[in-house]
Amino acid sequence: MLEQKNLEEFKLALEKERDLLVKELETIATPDPNVKGDWDIKHSEWGENQITSQEELESGESVNEIDEDMKNKSLSDSLELRLRDVNDALVRIENGTYGICDFCKKEISIERLRANPAAKTDMEHAG
Ligand SMILES: [Zn+2]
Repeated sequence: MLEQKNLEEFKLALEKERDLLVKELETIATPDPNVKGDWDIKHSEWGENQITSQEELESGESVNEIDEDMKNKSLSDSLELRLRDVNDALVRIENGTYGICDFCKKEISIERLRANPAAKTDMEHAG
């Protein structure tokens, strides 16, 4: 079993990571008011510093703008996933099920939790 001081250490690390993830998500997305834990990306505005070629002007759509949206979408997806894992881990700390492998129910090593406090599995069942 993890000691209380270890649990507190991981809780702090997770809360810190959650705050960072939320901050990062907020720069590219807004929380979906209808779906808890879901974020909608902000669509890029027609920025002044966007390089616009003649062809793009003629086609009426900026390739850069679409690229930017796609980049933000995949970034926000990965941040969202990570945020979900971090929140799950915080719930498990509250439930007293933190640090237990999802597959074999064995304890996850403290070294692994230090490397990734949101880990849901032990080394054997990683990935
Ligand atoms: Zn396992």
